[in-house]
Amino acid sequence: MAGEPQDDCLFCKIVAGRIPATVVKETETTVAFRDINPQAPTHVLVIPKVHYADAAELAAAEPSVTADLLRHAGEVATEEKLESYRLVFNTGSGAGQTVFHAHLHLLGGRGMHWPPG
Ligand code: 5GP
Ligand code: ZN
Repeated sequence: MAGEPQDDCLFCKIVAGRIPATVVKETETTVAFRDINPQAPTHVLVIPKVHYADAAELAAAEPSVTADLLRHAGEVATEEKLESYRLVFNTGSGAGQTVFHAHLHLLGGRGMHWPPG
């Protein structure tokens, strides 16, 4: 069922504590942890505890959790002392999405190019 934990989902397993992660901050609705393959000095993934395949599905079903995700990312950026940072939702394999549990990338600590590759 939409929103329910999925047995075969890596990020649901991290939410459940069944796979270890370096958690930097947790709220009632979200978890933030360091990316295993960082693309910047700070690379944190902020995820909803509920399972939706991507950001658009999450936003359609759970707008308040989507707002929590953005607020939580901003709080982590402040705690990481980032003056500038980038927030990214890769959506679909063509855009580089590899884990189909909605997640927000928080990248910072280096210069960023525009447009992204
Ligand atoms: P996507 O490519 O779907 O936008 O982002 C998935 C991210 O999850 C990638 O940046 C990847 O490095 C990260 N990732 C994949 N497996 C793990 C894991 O087991 N632990 C952590 N912390 N990050 C992971
Ligand atoms: Zn999941």
